[in-house]
Parts: sequence; structure tokens; C-alpha cells
Amino acid sequence: MEIKMHEPILEADYVIVGAGAVGMALADTLVAETSAKVVIVDRRAKPGGHWNDAYPFVRLHGPSVTYGVNSTPLGSGRIDTVGLNAGLNELASGAEICAYYDRVMQDSLLPSGRVTWLPLHDVDESGTATSLVNGQRRRLVAGRRWVDATQADTQVPSTHGPRFAVAHGVTCLTPTELTQWRQPAAGHVIVGGGKTAMDTALWLLEHGVDPDAITWIRPREAWLLNRANVQPTAAFAHQALTAMVAEFEAARDATSLPDLFARLEAARLLQRIDPTVQPTMYRCAIVSEAELAQLRRIKNVVRLGHVRAIEIDRIVLEHGEIATSARHVHVHCSAGGLPRGPLQPVFQGQRLVPQYVRRCSPSFSAAFIAHLEATLDDEQEKNALCEPVLVPRVPLDWLRMHLQTAKNQLRWSQRADVQDWLRRSRLEAYTGLFERMQREADPAWVALQSRLKQVRGPGYERLAELLRTAPASAKPEARVTGRAMFEQAGALETR
Ligand SMILES: Cc1cc2nc3c(=O)[nH]c(=O)nc-3n(C[C@H](O)[C@H](O)[C@H](O)COP(=O)(O)OP(=O)(O)OC[C@H]3O[C@@H](n4cnc5c(N)ncnc54)[C@H](O)[C@@H]3O)c2cc1C
Repeated sequence: MEIKMHEPILEADYVIVGAGAVGMALADTLVAETSAKVVIVDRRAKPGGHWNDAYPFVRLHGPSVTYGVNSTPLGSGRIDTVGLNAGLNELASGAEICAYYDRVMQDSLLPSGRVTWLPLHDVDESGTATSLVNGQRRRLVAGRRWVDATQADTQVPSTHGPRFAVAHGVTCLTPTELTQWRQPAAGHVIVGGGKTAMDTALWLLEHGVDPDAITWIRPREAWLLNRANVQPTAAFAHQALTAMVAEFEAARDATSLPDLFARLEAARLLQRIDPTVQPTMYRCAIVSEAELAQLRRIKNVVRLGHVRAIEIDRIVLEHGEIATSARHVHVHCSAGGLPRGPLQPVFQGQRLVPQYVRRCSPSFSAAFIAHLEATLDDEQEKNALCEPVLVPRVPLDWLRMHLQTAKNQLRWSQRADVQDWLRRSRLEAYTGLFERMQREADPAWVALQSRLKQVRGPGYERLAELLRTAPASAKPEARVTGRAMFEQAGALETR
């Protein structure tokens, strides 16, 4: 790359582009485990990535205890006693997450004296950072690695407007604008089938909107994880292990793909809002059973494909139209969420491209990758320990993610140094927790462990077979790759 002489150079061992959950978790572990100098740069004014633009009622959908950076706990370790998450580990709000990342930056990374933070800078393909405030350009040079922590490209409604036409006079709001809207509506129309749409539905119900006054345009149904099973703390250890055993038993006994998902649903591992509709989407969204019960109160669900246009008196969809009015409030919940690019090696010479190395675990994966970077030299060895796990899109991805995660975990289990780090990692709560439980030698725990040992092998074998023999219709992504794949499938529309 040609260096323009008039551009000042800013050099560090690592240049991390993107200060979202991934860039921050990487920086935190690199600073903790090496003596390297790090530049972190982001277009946004604050660290935290997409959370800075999220709607006011957003929360994590997985527990706070496994989110954030490895060095600093997020949240107080509370079990919620009220609301739809009662009885489960707390879920940080968007505001709490932003404050947390700001604190990590101000109280930990910057005081290390080895981190330079460039907010409000756009990085172009030549590696130049341009200030979005004064236009000053700086050439960034990475002595060891250039870290591209921008893969997620997370899209939220406030930054990515609707991809359908909205006629003049129609009220079409983002979830953020919905909270600021002060006029009574003749009815609410939610557009989207992903997590943002679910959050919006719950918010409306919580604010006393009659479920019959809500129309929910859900082009597709999603499989949802049951939050009760992803609680990595001592009080839930038995439940977590029971869920793992049930998962493998479902896999071992499944006679076909539909049968697998039926078994996972019967074991309350996966759930769906409408049990009469076959899901075609899986994006790792997590809901509690109480939230699910609320969502099911909305009966007016429109399944006529994606919205093409909202006009004053009708909504035009791919497969039909429905009536609306100028007095209805339409809520656009159809931003992309988590698009995924093509999988690629994490370590690529001068470049490092963080991706998931365990299913649906952005924070853990980034910290783990940074730990390998800090402690191992051999590039091949590092890549072998963290083969990327895809960001899921369709139900079949549930199997793919499981199998790839298992492959990685098997390799980790064969290395004492990696196991030791996992045991101490805040973001990988299960290894340490399960070892503590093992030491207590509680008979119920021992029995569960022995069941797990019996079913794990056959379960994985059956999953691999189901994946191998899956019909082409279950794998639409085989035909296209990367971003085109998402756009073709309309997957950018939902989360
Ligand atoms: C509503 C919602 C709820 C979620 N809940 C959970 C949860 O409970 N648990 C969980 O594990 N995961 C959850 N996720 C997923 C997870 O939080 C996100 O995947 C994660 O925050 C993504 O972090 P990121 O750093 O990869 O991406 P982002 O947050 O998108 O950050 C990328 C950053 O890169 C910057 N950037 C991009 N290009 C450039 C450039 N050229 N120059 C400068 N800067 C650039 C962007 O400005 C951005 O700040 C949730 C996601 C959403 C949308």
C-alpha cells in the first residue's frame, strides 16, 4: 500500500478497527495478557458498537454474566425477581452496556498507557483513519496485526431505515421513535419477525396496548432458545447440564430433521411463538417462557411475505395486502441485525478477523482469540484451535454450529494451557462451574454426567449424519455466499 507523505502515521502493535463488543473484548485481553500497544478506532463517538444506537427498551437476551470483556464483570450478579425474566440471571439494558464499555475504556484500557482510542474516525480500505469531526487523516500502521472487528456490521432500525416504500402521511416509526410518540394510535402494526420485533411487541403489551389492537407482520417464524437453559451460574448448574443431556438425547434419537426439531421443542430447548407454523429462521434469539406466553397473546399475525410498501390505507406485501390507516402506528423492526460474511481463517498473517469460535458467543470468542494470539506463535496451531463457527440464519445452522463448536471444544480439551484459561475465564462460565460441581460429587450431578458421557458421541454422530443427508431445500445458502446470500434470502430484514 502506498503511504501518502503528508498523512501522519499512527503505529501500534495492533490496530483494532471496530470498538463494539468484539473489538473491546479483544483489546481487553490483549492488554491484559501482552505488553503490546493497541490503537482502537471506530466511527462512533463511544465504544459499544451497535448498542449506542439501540432502542431504549433493548436488553441483552442472554445473561449479563457472559457478556462484555473478560476482565470486568457486567452487572451485579442479580437474579431478577420481577418482570418477564424473573427467576433468571439479569439482562443488562442497552444503557448499562454502553456505560460498561465506556467504563472499560476510561478506567482500564486508557489508564494502561498502551491504548490509543480514536472515536469518530472512519477507516478506509487503504488503512487511513479520517476524523469525522475535522477531516484530519491519519495513516494507521499495525506492527503485528490489523484486526478487523467490523465483521458483524450490526444493523439496527435507527441506523438502517425500512427497505420498503412509505407513503407521505403514513406514521412509520423506529422502536426508538415509538417511545417518543405521544399520540394515541388506532392500532399498532409491527413489521418484522426477529428479536427487535419481539421486544417491540413486549413493550407495547407492557404499556397496556390491547393485543387485539396489534397487527404483527411476520414474514417468517423463528426457532428461539429457552433462556432457562442458558444460565451459567451455580444455582442453575443442574438445569444447564440436564439441558445438554436432553439436547444430545434428542439428536441421538432423531429420525429426521423435522423429528429433531420436534424433539428439541418437546424438551423445551427450542421454542416458537406459533406452534402451528414451521420455522424457517434460526438466529440464536433467546426468550424466557414468560416472554413467549406474552408474545402468543398477539393473534393478528400476517404471513403474506415481506412488506413492499405502506400506503395511507393499505399495506402491500409480497403475497397480498391488508388494510391500514393514517391513524395507525407502524413500527419498523426490519433492520438486518446480524448479517454474516463468508467464514474465513481467523489468523491471516498480518490480518486477524475475529469470528465466533463457539456458538453465538461474540464476547467469549473475541477474548479467546486474543488469548491465543497472546500465548501461541504458530499460526496454523492457532487457526486449528479456532475454526470459525457460523452466524446462524436457518434452522439447519443449529446443527452446523453445534458440530463446529464441538470440534473446537474437543481440541481445547486436549490442551492443558487452554483448559486452564477457560477455567479462569469470566466469559466461559461453564468450564469452571462444571468442574466445581464435579468436585462436590453430588449423586444427581454424577448421574447426569454419566448420562452425558453416554449420549454425547451418538448425539454428535447423528447430527453429522442429519446434516450430511439434509435435503437441498434446507440449505439455501449452498448456492450463494456472503452478503449476497442474505440479501437474496431477505434475511437482512429480521433479527
Ligand atoms: C438487539 C441485539 C441484542 C443482542 N443480544 C445479545 C446477547 O444477549 N448476548 C450475546 O452474546 N449477543 C447478543 N447480540 C449479538 C452481539 O451483541 C452482537 O453480535 C455484538 O454486540 C456485535 O459486536 P461487534 O463488535 O461484532 O459489532 P458492532 O456492535 O456492529 O460493532 C462494530 C463496530 O465497527 C465500527 N466500524 C465498522 N466499520 C468501520 C470503519 N470502516 N471505520 C471505523 N469503524 C467501523 C462500527 O461503527 C461499530 O461500532 C445482540 C445483538 C443485537 C442487535
